Amino acid sequence: MKKFDYMEKHGYEQLVFFHDKTTGLRGITCIHNTTLGPALGGTRLWDYDNEEDATLDVLRLARGMTYKAAAAGLNLGGGKSVLIGKADEVKSEAYFRAFGRYVQTLNGRYITAADINTSTKDLDYVSMETDHVVGLPGKSGNPSPATAWGAFHGIRAALEEIYGTDDMSERTFAVQGVGQTGDYLIGNLLDAGAKKVYFSEINEKHIKKIHEKYPDVEFVDPDDFYSLDVDVLAPCALGAVLNDETIPSIKAKIVAGTANNVLEDEEKHGQIVHDKGILYAPDFVINAGGLINVYHETKGYNETAAYRDIERIYDRLLDVFKISKDTGQHTQRAAKTFAKQRIDTINNVTANYVKR
Ligand code: NAD
Repeated sequence: MKKFDYMEKHGYEQLVFFHDKTTGLRGITCIHNTTLGPALGGTRLWDYDNEEDATLDVLRLARGMTYKAAAAGLNLGGGKSVLIGKADEVKSEAYFRAFGRYVQTLNGRYITAADINTSTKDLDYVSMETDHVVGLPGKSGNPSPATAWGAFHGIRAALEEIYGTDDMSERTFAVQGVGQTGDYLIGNLLDAGAKKVYFSEINEKHIKKIHEKYPDVEFVDPDDFYSLDVDVLAPCALGAVLNDETIPSIKAKIVAGTANNVLEDEEKHGQIVHDKGILYAPDFVINAGGLINVYHETKGYNETAAYRDIERIYDRLLDVFKISKDTGQHTQRAAKTFAKQRIDTINNVTANYVKR
């Protein structure tokens, strides 16, 4: 891979490789763009097949964080770290402290958080060596209720866009996956008076949990999820669920949930969904609640202020839908346009010198 060519093409600022002999730590931090503020992004521990895969992953994920933070209205840039190794073999206090020391060398240009295979306990070790870490125990807490709260307000925006009202009492919903975020989302929909909520799930324990908690919420077989005759499909489980196979059977007018990478191919399936008249709420906009919540740790965490900020996902999505309508772009592309516009505009207004 021609790293500098790739970095130039996509506007990357920095790619840092680090290694610690004592613990076997091998990692890469990528800072994509810090126009809006320090680059924030979690640390993923993964047994990559090779360094090339790890490098591509960290580059791709860091760029995604730039758009996510920008579209969320945060003063944050995009970054990410990947650690190469088998989670059950490498994890230790020393390993994460060694990592924390490398994070500290970036002097606040990069703020780390938990991601796949890294927990709040691991972050505690990281925080022994650096100030630049969020999502620690006892601070903003579990991101899932925050993510679900953001998705709920995103669903309100989509209803407003399609039906001219966000009243849920005449609307029907199907939630795919009732682990963390799906469970909270169902609670939010029911509290708002949703007419009918269905759910699909493959984990028996989670199916039982929902039956006990919400007896009126009806189970549907995972294979029947896409063709359900409901107003809103809310993917809250896997990625790539909007694809060549599933899209033709969709009857819902809206797809809006918490899941990441919902479109199997962003451009292709974003366009097909758009052409079919389905309103898709771009994943990185609607599921930013957890990021917004954890961002508030950098300002001294206040739950009320954080949740108020999360609710703004409603306005952000309406802005994205407007760009989509005005320009004819599908909503995923419109969301990127929205994020880029914010980065460019803030870059321009902060270009002059102001003494503070
Ligand atoms: P989770 O693991 O707690 O829940 C996912 C649920 O989906 C599980 O119960 C699983 O059994 C179920 N599932 C898996 N395959 C399924 C299928 N084919 N049909 C129906 N159900 C299925 O995960 P989560 O934290 O709720 O996250 C869900 C999605 O949201 C993921 O894509 C995640 O990346 C994304 N996300 C989560 C957060 C967060 O704060 N947790 C933030 C941003 C994005």
